Amino acid sequence: MGSLPFKITPFLIAVILILRLHLPAFGAAITDMRFWSAPDHSRVVLDLTEPVQYESSSQENPPQCQVELTGISSLPKKTELELTDKYLLKITLTDLGKGKARLVLHQKTPLQAIIFLLKPHLDKPHRLVIDLIDVGQTRKEQEERQKHKEVRPRGTKIVVLDPGHGGEDPGAVGLRKTLEKDVVLKVGEKTLHLLNQQKEMKAFLTRKGDYFIPLEERVRIAREYGADLFISLHADGSFNPQVRGASVYCLSLSGASDQAAKLLADKENMSNILGGATLKPASLSKDPNLNQILLDLMQNNSMKESFRFAELSLDELKEVHSLKYPSYRQANFIVLRTPDIPSVLVEMAFITNKEDERLLNQSGFQEKIAKNLFNAILKYFK
Ligand SMILES: [Zn+2]
Repeated sequence: MGSLPFKITPFLIAVILILRLHLPAFGAAITDMRFWSAPDHSRVVLDLTEPVQYESSSQENPPQCQVELTGISSLPKKTELELTDKYLLKITLTDLGKGKARLVLHQKTPLQAIIFLLKPHLDKPHRLVIDLIDVGQTRKEQEERQKHKEVRPRGTKIVVLDPGHGGEDPGAVGLRKTLEKDVVLKVGEKTLHLLNQQKEMKAFLTRKGDYFIPLEERVRIAREYGADLFISLHADGSFNPQVRGASVYCLSLSGASDQAAKLLADKENMSNILGGATLKPASLSKDPNLNQILLDLMQNNSMKESFRFAELSLDELKEVHSLKYPSYRQANFIVLRTPDIPSVLVEMAFITNKEDERLLNQSGFQEKIAKNLFNAILKYFK
């Protein structure tokens, strides 16, 4: 038996392993492939260790979108996803050799593809996002919302509830991995249910499932419904696990009430970066009146009305939870830029506090928050 020119010792193995770990990987590794389903689009996300070059093409028969990726070092374990989705049948990722890979989105119908890269943010790596949009459905939903506005009976009040975050953007995350996007959706649904049992009220949600909606679009949805009141629902997060309690925020264009309010607004405004704001086809996203209306905002009555609702909701919330601040705070939240609609942002509790996280997960607590918001809404419209 021939002998090796060197002895394989544990030391040598360790050196080889360390060298291996430190060798720069050639190109980008695709580490995961994810998928989100929204009423008017489907989204596919590839997690990457670095940005990639890509080229896309679409075909109609059979309908599919192909993305050719260059500079790829490895593919994830799972390279095929079979789906039960309104728009997609299957997603496949194939190694083409020489650092190339092909992603194919097998569609049920022709769709408009919007593809973009997202930079790393917090715990999210580089990502390639492919949104496949059913433009007809987007328009239909828009028209349906506007129809509600047109046919509303005299005296009916319209409330739009906005469960924050969703899809790629989980919002704040608790110690036991409770996600803000999940609990706020539950409270939103419970509040919706209570409001819609009232004859003179009609409530809608901006988001009905686990998918992302850009902040500006949430505002647009509220206006399309002709909302009389807009409430964005959130759960706060802090590095300090001791901090807990509920708080209510209103918009400020001139400056935040304090540094903490500004930091929170910055954090909530990050949602677009984390969630990956899709630029919907231009004809659907333009709102030429918005800037002028924003300028007129300060003279507008809706600010005063927002403050009034904020006070009413704090009065109610303190019945079920401790308040972080006795009064509402103000900062420049994108989602509150609804110049023609009184609007507030409610942080129900701190998901990063052990006790608050436990409460947020309790259906009973969610119901109490919903009931109190409902009470505040009734008082507001009286
Ligand atoms: Zn939030």
